[in-house]
Amino acid sequence: MNDIDPSPDDVGVGFAALGLRAETLAALDELGYEEPTPIQRETIPLLIEGRDMLGQAATGTGKTAAFALPILELVEAGRGPATPIALILVPTRELAVQVSEAIFKYGRHLLDGRGVKVVPIYGGQPIQRQLQQLDRGVHVVVATPGRAVDHIGRGSLPLDTVRTVVLDEADEMLDMGFADDIEAILDSTPSDRQTVMFSATMPPRINSIAKRYQRDPVRIQIGKGDTKVSKALIRQRAYVVMRQHKPAALGRILDIEAPRAALVFCRTRGEVDQLTETMNGRGYRAEALHGGMDQAQRDRVMGRLRDGTAELLIATDVAARGLDVDLLTHVVNYDVPSAPESYVHRIGRVGRAGREGVAITLAEPREQRQLQNIERLTKQQIEIGTVPTVADLRATRIAQTTEAVREALNADDLHDFHDVLEALSGEHNVRTIALAAIKLAHEAVGGPADEVEIPDISKRFERNRDDRGERGPRNDRPDKARPGRDQKLPSGNDGPTGYLFIGLGRRGGVRPGDLVGAIANESGLTGRQIGPIRISDAYSVVGVPEHRVDDIIDTMRSTLIRGKKTTVRRYTD
Ligand code: AMP
Repeated sequence: MNDIDPSPDDVGVGFAALGLRAETLAALDELGYEEPTPIQRETIPLLIEGRDMLGQAATGTGKTAAFALPILELVEAGRGPATPIALILVPTRELAVQVSEAIFKYGRHLLDGRGVKVVPIYGGQPIQRQLQQLDRGVHVVVATPGRAVDHIGRGSLPLDTVRTVVLDEADEMLDMGFADDIEAILDSTPSDRQTVMFSATMPPRINSIAKRYQRDPVRIQIGKGDTKVSKALIRQRAYVVMRQHKPAALGRILDIEAPRAALVFCRTRGEVDQLTETMNGRGYRAEALHGGMDQAQRDRVMGRLRDGTAELLIATDVAARGLDVDLLTHVVNYDVPSAPESYVHRIGRVGRAGREGVAITLAEPREQRQLQNIERLTKQQIEIGTVPTVADLRATRIAQTTEAVREALNADDLHDFHDVLEALSGEHNVRTIALAAIKLAHEAVGGPADEVEIPDISKRFERNRDDRGERGPRNDRPDKARPGRDQKLPSGNDGPTGYLFIGLGRRGGVRPGDLVGAIANESGLTGRQIGPIRISDAYSVVGVPEHRVDDIIDTMRSTLIRGKKTTVRRYTD
């Protein structure tokens, strides 16, 4: 395997060096991608060459662009409606939409600005609409295996012009019972196609698919480069929050941590600008650091950090390069970094010269694997923190007010306000007047009244992490398992199984993959942790680790299954 090690020499190699066409480079620039992630740097030139590939990489590494950008090299204007040049298979509807959107964005300048035509094809959406889209002509199809098989069966998905097939999150697809579908699909594509497989883990079945369907694949893995974290000195903590709650969560964590100076890493320039604005709007003194700034501008920003005018520096990896960092007490990863090595590199900016530092990472539930990869690489556990609650915030603010009043009690000029007390003491008792004065002090101290509770999903994340361990042998296809009425089947090593009632069944067109996909997406569980599944005419029952039942019900309230809202509750026979 080629291990990817982003050594300091390769940083700074931009997308242009990878051999991508100008239209793609322009789109990446507009998206604010400053440089390729390690996996992109490694894979893109090889994929453009036409090599087959077997890559071990989790979500969050930038693997979508790694396989998508080379596909865009194949897009050409032709006569008549477009025919698919690439078929990308993904385990879930959400991923199908996400990958399609990414490809659309990367390819928007192609074909003289008309843009690449991409269609996501997944169960749950009316097939009629997909038929129309396919009929009008597309360059790239992103499909879940089940729906792809449906279309192949109907003759509505022409595959004879396909030059590249990508299996994304291959292990998940196998976990979900799609092995036969995948093989059937691969058998329907031209035999001289390029076959690219990405998987977070490499169970034997992936290797056997590789052996059967790939030609001399390049094997790559997100590497085992520099993994040393100056252990004792850096306190590492991750918080699990949904994306929409990140700005509020960051503010609260900073309130509690009270950094002297913090460096916050974002993925793109756009995110840097947006977060800088948001944090300033929330009353923090934040400065953006941009790749394009010259030395004088950087010095000015650093000066503001040094004299305390700024407390947060928000930057991309590129912009933060070569930063004079002695001041920093905290490094924040606003997202889990794209490669474990960049995590190590980033957090190494604190804990220098014997001083202590704090590394904070905001992770979304889907980034769980990525966090585990980092732990595996650094051989250290990242503590999972709990985002401060509204009650914690109030308690902190009350403590600050108490401190402010205590300080004022020592002031020399208290007697200046004697007249105010005199004027009021005829109307109210002194205790009430004191409370009113404290209220004013409190309002003066308190930052924004951020009174909305941020859902705490860290506990279930941690439990999930504890449960997972190393992956064991696979379960059967989930739809083959049929629990009896009272039967509680253990699911892997996740302890007892609890059951969800889902108010959609065969009549609603539900298939096991829809249920596994929806639950996996919302909960961060892997396919292996979900099951058995029983689908009746009117409803379905799905097994999940017992201790996850309640929070899954909670997160699935607004989830659509096959495009429909449905009841999800505990199944109690
Ligand atoms: P993925 O691993 O493909 O799910 O990508 C994770 C996230 O990283 C997505 O939000 C991408 O938009 C973003 N991303 C991918 N490549 C880059 C890059 N080179 N620079 C900045 N962000 C990127």
